[in-house]
Amino acid sequence: MKSRRRLYKIAVEVILLRNYEKYVQARDAAWKLLIDCSVTALPVDPASICKHYNYRLISYRRGRDAIAALGLDGLMPRTDGFCIYSGNKYYIFFDDSMSRQRQRFTIAHELGHIQLGHIGDNQHTRINREPSAHDDPIEIQANWFAARILAPACVLHSLHALTPPEISHVCEISIAAATFRAQCMELLEQQHVYLQNPLEQQVARQFESYVRRILVSGRE
Ligand SMILES: [Zn+2]
Repeated sequence: MKSRRRLYKIAVEVILLRNYEKYVQARDAAWKLLIDCSVTALPVDPASICKHYNYRLISYRRGRDAIAALGLDGLMPRTDGFCIYSGNKYYIFFDDSMSRQRQRFTIAHELGHIQLGHIGDNQHTRINREPSAHDDPIEIQANWFAARILAPACVLHSLHALTPPEISHVCEISIAAATFRAQCMELLEQQHVYLQNPLEQQVARQFESYVRRILVSGRE
């Protein structure tokens, strides 16, 4: 078990090193979004973020006819969500038959594609599912972004929420997504590299009173 974890850590480090620029771009974009939308508490609500940017958020159930009219109904069985830019507006469609936690991550992943400039005019995204080692760099980047807006590292650190069940509970994400995040948190905790960037310092300030409230209620 120990050597498997060590191998995983090496794999994560190699991925980060190879895609360092992409990683920094996703990380900074996530911090900027949390600042831009004045997010101050967990769980982060991806629907209000969509509202803030005026992105239309539509479930598969509600958007079935619109999706068929766009000729994209073939995507629905293959992906948990997708996004399209059309008529100067972004539309995010998501599978509302999935668990609430999965839906939240799906929407955050599509927000990542938009904020990271992955979608041009009349283009749409194709893949949105639980993270896997075989994802291409754009999917990995959207997942990095999603994890960083739903489970910001500096907030998890201050809350001492570091295990998959704790992260899943406090951030309302699936255990699978929380396990990925917990593995990243383990690396960050070892290196103790928090609050070195002014963007992260601002995010931490925004969450200060929420963190205090949670820590006090935990002690009672
Ligand atoms: Zn995607």
